[in-house]
Amino acid sequence: MDTGTHWPASVQELRAGLDAVGLTFGDVEQIVVTHMHTDHYGGVQAILQETEAAVFVHSQAKRALTDGQEEFARTESFMQSFIRECGAAHILNRERKYHPEEWRDVRYLEDGDTIAAGGRDWSILHTPGHSQSDICLWDQASGDAIVGDFLLQEISSNAFIVPPEPPSGERPKPLLQMRESFSRVYDMPFATVYPGHGEPFAGHQGLIDRRREEQAARCEKILSLLAEQPRTVLKICRELFPWLKENALFLGLSEVQGHLDLLVEQGRAAGEPHEGILWYYAV
Ligand SMILES: [Zn+2]
Ligand SMILES: [Zn+2]
Repeated sequence: MDTGTHWPASVQELRAGLDAVGLTFGDVEQIVVTHMHTDHYGGVQAILQETEAAVFVHSQAKRALTDGQEEFARTESFMQSFIRECGAAHILNRERKYHPEEWRDVRYLEDGDTIAAGGRDWSILHTPGHSQSDICLWDQASGDAIVGDFLLQEISSNAFIVPPEPPSGERPKPLLQMRESFSRVYDMPFATVYPGHGEPFAGHQGLIDRRREEQAARCEKILSLLAEQPRTVLKICRELFPWLKENALFLGLSEVQGHLDLLVEQGRAAGEPHEGILWYYAV
């Protein structure tokens, strides 16, 4: 499950962890990636140098893995227009580099599929929001649930703004998706939850309740700002997260946009473009 990043220290730590239980990369038969963020899949290539393991990932990852360069360019250009619309064009000076992923035997997962691993049958739940490719693995017999970054105890997962998929469609509303995914798993009898960061925990309902409350509170805060005057996503972001440095600003923009999507959906706010920048106001 997940590999950590591609950084040598991370790959080495994974190798040492396997070594501690008498295994090597060569023993790995299946790699499951909970979602397409580099801290979860970055080490796949290093492992694949020593094994023919199959890599399992949700089908939402297909375009990134098969049209790598093209998909990277599409994502970059979408992100640039999103950031411009937020009124944050000044952070567009960083150029990101494309790193091709060459995975040989990729098995694309869909919601409802099952993976046999470790003598158990794991059901695949597609739980988009944090990313489009987020999956949970659930073992009904034990109640164990492996959830990637969908449910984290220490921090609320960012619902990342991403380009439409398929490209002709509309941009996903990731915070709305995340809330749907919350509702979907809320009544599931998860016993122990294994997150992508932090220690295993129990009580996912309490965690989801907390996240919903935080989202509601953030919506109210944004609405009170909009009641004063119309604002851009950047201006709201500066009020909500004044401590964010410029290189982390995208996280804040994404977070604010997610809550604005929710307010728009609820008919409590609306946006209007002015010279290429979206201004939001309370309805
Ligand atoms: Zn992630
Ligand atoms: Zn992560």
